[in-house]
Amino acid sequence: MGPDLERVLLGQSELAEGIARLAAEIDADYNGRELLLVGVLKGAVMVMADLSRALHRPATMDWMAISSYGAGTKSSGVVRILKDLDADIAGQHVLVVEDIIDSGLTLSWLLSNLRSRNPASLEVCTLLRKPDAAKVEIDVKYVGFDIPNEFVVGYGLDFAERFRNLPFIGTLAPHVYS
Ligand code: 5GP
Ligand code: MG
Ligand code: MG
Repeated sequence: MGPDLERVLLGQSELAEGIARLAAEIDADYNGRELLLVGVLKGAVMVMADLSRALHRPATMDWMAISSYGAGTKSSGVVRILKDLDADIAGQHVLVVEDIIDSGLTLSWLLSNLRSRNPASLEVCTLLRKPDAAKVEIDVKYVGFDIPNEFVVGYGLDFAERFRNLPFIGTLAPHVYS
């Protein structure tokens, strides 16, 4: 695991089970509707890759890159669009695919931004959610795992751009960020 990680929170098979469960729920709910998956770069890359392949329906994909954290471990609440969607989403059934919701600040900003573009529907699927997310009022329809209030890395999630390629979710040893 290496000296920078403390412990494995979700292993590869647990992640695969979680993704399969989310895909089954989404498949059932979107029956007969064409789905546009909007991935939030870069953290959601692994979730998008695995979730989209677990769906039993045609789906299109688009990507946005937004920044809220910088290199630290706390949300600033100030969101910048680094890369916008390629196409108009008006009239489409949009499912935002997220890696993690912590304070929820990033997501609530993103949802009001996307809502203003008039999609036919707008829902959220996140792999991970932390307890603080409960404090902001966001209706997140699909949640993979509720996790404790710790900084996690792996499976797309970074600390200063490192650890994204780990195939599991782990917690960071305090000496790395303190
Ligand atoms: P929020 O605005 O909900 O506090 O934060 C959302 C974003 O912050 C996530 O998309 C992710 O990029 C980052 N983030 C929040 N918690 C964590 C965490 O535990 N680990 C990592 N690597 N990133 C996190
Ligand atoms: Mg994210
Ligand atoms: Mg990050």
